[in-house]
Amino acid sequence: MKKDHPDRVAALETVIAACRICREAPRPNAPPLPHEPRPVAVLSSQARILIAGQAPGLKVHETGITFNDASGNRLRDWLGVDRETFYDRSKFAIVPMGFCFPGYDEKGSDLPPRKECAPTWRQAVIAAMPQVELVLAIGQYAQGWHLGEKRLKSMTETVLNWRAYLGSNAEGPKVLPLPHPSWRNTGWLKKNPWFEEELLPVLKALVRDYTE
Ligand code: SF4
Repeated sequence: MKKDHPDRVAALETVIAACRICREAPRPNAPPLPHEPRPVAVLSSQARILIAGQAPGLKVHETGITFNDASGNRLRDWLGVDRETFYDRSKFAIVPMGFCFPGYDEKGSDLPPRKECAPTWRQAVIAAMPQVELVLAIGQYAQGWHLGEKRLKSMTETVLNWRAYLGSNAEGPKVLPLPHPSWRNTGWLKKNPWFEEELLPVLKALVRDYTE
């Protein structure tokens, strides 16, 4: 394993915790964040797995605890871990594409991750965690960033191609694309039984290997 580097990670977490870009200096033509920023991300100098999520929902925003909701319960079930293991930062780093709850659209759905966040922070965050060996890229935004041009046209096609990504010899951590564990994807899970039958057993085995 590569050298532990806790100071670098702690320093970055401190700077991110104070970030107010989306409130005070949003990108041109974007409305400011409609509430006080509360970045929620778990960086780690030891974890070999990075959970690359989307953005916090309201419950996560209110509690400051990532995946502290029904989506988190489903994700923990997919990973085969309990809450204690999931929140052990020596085992999992948890870094969404947008660190703050982005608010709701006019239909009451969560807005996408703020576009200011990844360009501002993500390179530095990834560079501060060189020990990561596996990225779980949850949803289209994380897949777009972590797979780049290798992402396919739709989230379904991308997740279906999971074996190719895992088997890739590219440098850097392996990337396993996953759908978002939100209740909104319950229909998707029913339509794509291969996900639970074929991908999840491999995911659970990888998690066991990388968290021992
Ligand atoms: S979403 Fe990211 S860039 Fe925007 S205020 Fe929060 S931490 Fe800063």
